Amino acid sequence: MPTMRPDAPTSPLRLSIDASALTANWRALDRLSGPARAGAAVKANAYGVGAAQVAPVLRAAGCDDFFVAHWSEVPELLDHVPASRIAVLHGPLTAADAAWARAAGVRPVINSLHQARLWQEAGGGACDLMVDTGINRLGVSLADLSDPLLAALDIDVLHSHLAASEEPDNPLNASQLERWQAARAVVRHRRAALANSAGIALGGAFLGDLTRPGLALYGGVPCAALAGEIRQVVCPQAAIMQVRQLQAGDSVGYNATFTATSPMRVGVVSIGYADGYLRCWSGKGLMRAGGADLPVLGRVSMDMTVVDLGGAPDLREGDWLDVAYALPEASERSGLSQYELLTLLGRRFAR
Ligand SMILES: *Cc1c(COP(=O)(O)O)cnc(C)c1O
Repeated sequence: MPTMRPDAPTSPLRLSIDASALTANWRALDRLSGPARAGAAVKANAYGVGAAQVAPVLRAAGCDDFFVAHWSEVPELLDHVPASRIAVLHGPLTAADAAWARAAGVRPVINSLHQARLWQEAGGGACDLMVDTGINRLGVSLADLSDPLLAALDIDVLHSHLAASEEPDNPLNASQLERWQAARAVVRHRRAALANSAGIALGGAFLGDLTRPGLALYGGVPCAALAGEIRQVVCPQAAIMQVRQLQAGDSVGYNATFTATSPMRVGVVSIGYADGYLRCWSGKGLMRAGGADLPVLGRVSMDMTVVDLGGAPDLREGDWLDVAYALPEASERSGLSQYELLTLLGRRFAR
């Protein structure tokens, strides 16, 4: 007989996800995409937000095209999105990848002549093509575009990817646009896509038929033009595990980087760098409860962080705090990029 295992108690750490803000962000990006439809980059567990939480909300909002990076990211998504609506950006690395894509019915993004051959040898079918126009990462080079291997592909979306879209004045944008348009003239395809979140703000010819926003869906603001359009989606929340009273001269945490100068009440909170709340927040982060700001004291530990409860004298063990995590401000304060702030969010959050 298998032993009965009771359900685990609820986590003292949760990621609050504002589904209406996520919906509003996708709709804003779809509107700003003009004649193009907005898809969604949901790779890396939807940038750490949680693919299983994000995908059904985006589907309901009207999103029809989903992008992941790895094959391992597909199965979870298949619970929420039809296979034919999923494309895998890294494409097949092995014959087994290509065979799996065929069996699952998802589209590989073909990034090289080698991948084109793997896909054809697996039996082929609808796929996407990534063309490198200047980022020099994944993608078929312009010089290879007339290769017969590519002419034999059944290409749905012809992609390229911008290297500096969050800098509207960077000359790379115009040169990448020109090369992408040249590729569109050479390769047979049904739809064309170039813009990520910040690329959408470039507008006009950058929009093509389909856009691939990621960061801005989840509350990131990569460029000034998107400020005012994008709402905060995620808020980490953690419970107070212990309240303690410090006296003047008492220090807090590893290496005693904070010392109280007068008596103070502090809370030990169940979030640490193992959850993605990195040590850069030591002495710098802010938590909130009922309108009060509660500064982080001393070093962030692996599993806990200490905050000053001076602004909220009624808080007790078990009470929840919001971690200040509005992405543009949090990035400014921490020195981490908005992408890193999201994708760091760890496994221990209840989502
Ligand atoms: C991740 C990714 C995106 C999304 O970019 P954001 O800057 O997060 O909007 C778009 N296209 C490709 C190819 C990507 O890898």
